[in-house]
Amino acid sequence: MEMQNRPQRQMHDVSAMNITCTECGTQIKELPFEPNKRQDGTYGRLYCYDCNKKRRPAFRGGFGR
Ligand SMILES: [Zn+2]
Repeated sequence: MEMQNRPQRQMHDVSAMNITCTECGTQIKELPFEPNKRQDGTYGRLYCYDCNKKRRPAFRGGFGR
């Protein structure tokens, strides 16, 4: 799989699903992917935009652009 720049990330509106961030408990209104409900009725661990950003290590050195 090649890493390519995605032109635009499609956000899924999940505000009606009452999903909260595993980390801070904030209600998540949008996700870059469609969450799948598991057998136990939860969506697994999901993080809000801010926590997602915090969890991902920032790229240092900057390859490419
Ligand atoms: Zn959060």
